Amino acid sequence: MSPPENKTSPLAAPVTSLWGVGAERAAQLARLDIHTVEDLLLHRPRRYEDRRHFKRISELTKDEAATARGTIIVQGLKRFRGGSKSVFEFVLDDGTARLHCRWWNLPFMEKYFAVGDEVFVFGKLVETKPRTMDHPETEVIEGGEEGFIHINRIAPVYPLTEGLPQRWLRGFIWRTLEKFENQLVGQASRLSPSLGQKNLRQAGSLSYANAVRMIHFPEELADVEIARRRLALDEFIALQSAIQRRRKNFEARSRALPCGGDNRLMKPFLAQLGFKLTGAQTKVLREIRADMSGAGVSPARSESATHGRDARATTTATPMRRLLQGDVGSGKTVVAACTALMALESGFNAALMAPTEILAEQHFRNFQKWFEPLGVRVELQTGSRKTASDKQKQNSSLVTRHPSPVTFTVGTHALLTSGFDIPNLGLVIIDEQHKFGVAQREQLVRKGNYPHLLVMTATPIPRTLGLTLYGDLDVSVIDEMPAGRGRVKTFVRAADKLPKVWEFIREKISAGRQAYVIYPRVEEQDTANDLKAVTKELENVRRALAPFRVGLLHGRLKSREKDEVMTAFRTNQIQALVATALIEVGVDVPNASIMLIENAERFGLAQLHQLRGRIGRGAHESQCILIAGAKNEEARQRLKILEETADGFRIAEADLKLRGPGELLGRQQSGLPKFRFGNLVDDLDLIRQARERVARKAPLGF
Ligand code: ADP
Ligand code: MG
Repeated sequence: MSPPENKTSPLAAPVTSLWGVGAERAAQLARLDIHTVEDLLLHRPRRYEDRRHFKRISELTKDEAATARGTIIVQGLKRFRGGSKSVFEFVLDDGTARLHCRWWNLPFMEKYFAVGDEVFVFGKLVETKPRTMDHPETEVIEGGEEGFIHINRIAPVYPLTEGLPQRWLRGFIWRTLEKFENQLVGQASRLSPSLGQKNLRQAGSLSYANAVRMIHFPEELADVEIARRRLALDEFIALQSAIQRRRKNFEARSRALPCGGDNRLMKPFLAQLGFKLTGAQTKVLREIRADMSGAGVSPARSESATHGRDARATTTATPMRRLLQGDVGSGKTVVAACTALMALESGFNAALMAPTEILAEQHFRNFQKWFEPLGVRVELQTGSRKTASDKQKQNSSLVTRHPSPVTFTVGTHALLTSGFDIPNLGLVIIDEQHKFGVAQREQLVRKGNYPHLLVMTATPIPRTLGLTLYGDLDVSVIDEMPAGRGRVKTFVRAADKLPKVWEFIREKISAGRQAYVIYPRVEEQDTANDLKAVTKELENVRRALAPFRVGLLHGRLKSREKDEVMTAFRTNQIQALVATALIEVGVDVPNASIMLIENAERFGLAQLHQLRGRIGRGAHESQCILIAGAKNEEARQRLKILEETADGFRIAEADLKLRGPGELLGRQQSGLPKFRFGNLVDDLDLIRQARERVARKAPLGF
């Protein structure tokens, strides 16, 4: 993160302003994302080499990568296969033994070394007789003034790019550090921990300037982690400041519309639902109503709920900004409907944005069924279609009965397009928020002139991510499933068990159930290749399940075709649906109780958990069968977590550890900042500390 406060800081100067950086070096540095002096000073070493102590060549082993140092006593390039293949080799001697170093098919290596050169090498032995390393990392030790930068110390080893020597970059960073020492100390303007020189060793009380120096040239290896944490804290502080600015900005512009409602529509709505709200749904709705009525204070504020607001803000009326988390199937849609009714009862329009057309259409149908009898107009706005409810168009008497009927608009990101506008908007709901970026969310809020906001997600978000991505939202959790749900049993099976699995599915279909068969896709959008694969699979599935009828759903279908397939499935005209992971979000067909997922190892755990949330929605016992590629034992072990637990949070935590935040949230998640030093898996304590400091406006140290 670049320092937000001080744009004219000397650290913001381009690297080209430094001595020794011409066009070529600048281009190389740019490939490493180094553009400014600050970028350079925060270029993080990949590893460190303790060059105070070396292994003797005679002590090198096959299992452990280590650094040795010696003199080249002989070297040469051998070509073979008519010159198309080659091996370059030198022999290093350190007085204890000799070490052969080889490079295959890199003939140009020859020109970097000469007999008599003193060299560091880092690697593992591939052979012990004679001692041999293949493609070790090397650095020629040159005499001269700067020797002390590179030897007799713990030396940083940086990520490089072609043409950029390790030694040059290390020297360059050293000199730049010297030159900018004072400016680094001058970074005192940023929020940062107050000092305590005596505790210098403890992360958080280390000065920024010292941390930057230590990350490059630590005195002890243990210092590296201390410095990393200090720099990570700085990144988290910058991020939390941005989050709180966003919140303040929102509060400054917002109109706390009174949207508490009077139950006039809610009562008949709940009466016709056919089920009672769960305790968790009711609890969440109370929190929502407190926000919507303009009180701006919800009764229960957890740590996550209070973040970002100081005590004063909670007593001011501000619109709702709330994240609703609830596992798949926990009943978020009904909560969304009740929330919408509060706004509609209060005379304001409301809108809901969903990430896919299929989901938007499903919501449209549900809300039509629920709201039209109440005199609310329901509209659909997607890329391919804009429909006011047909029935309503015909039934103009509705308009007569309700002189100015309120409107509920369901749409995809088409709601964001410029020509489209909803006047008098009191509430924006975003479903499956994790499929949108923070930017899109804010765009809709801005467009609606800062109304109440409810965002919903089924991806349980580990705390670190929650505080990072949704740090400016209050959080409500639906932590209870509706009663009477059949359980979902999950099985991991190897591909050779497929015949048995098909037999099992046929039995279930004979008993009246329906099935999903899912194939992974590689990209967010289905590619032509995925399409070919899934079309071919359709034939296999048809054969395996004949005479039952099988339909196909993928991202390349026109929305009318998608609609037809979904309708046929919903009405049981087709018994099995072959699909790409497109149905991951939100689709609700209670009679479908079996899911087969092919190549399950290609999906993340959280995504698989979402997928299986499509079943277990009716009263029937449901089965989810994960087929893992036969060879990959590790992948199968990973999938076992899904056999063991239905706890979305545990699954998300595991996924975060295994695959990192980008993968957990999906590629489209654009709200996730890049950290050089911060680590979203391990740094929960630092993220919390950063929040606190920003909230307290903790006066800054250095
Ligand atoms: P999600 O939270 O995944 O969006 P949905 O809102 O789609 O879940 O709800 C899943 C299913 O549960 C729907 O068929 C819905 O009608 C039903 N449902 C929601 N709330 C209840 C409840 N309190 N009791 C029984 N069924 C419910
Ligand atoms: Mg949903």
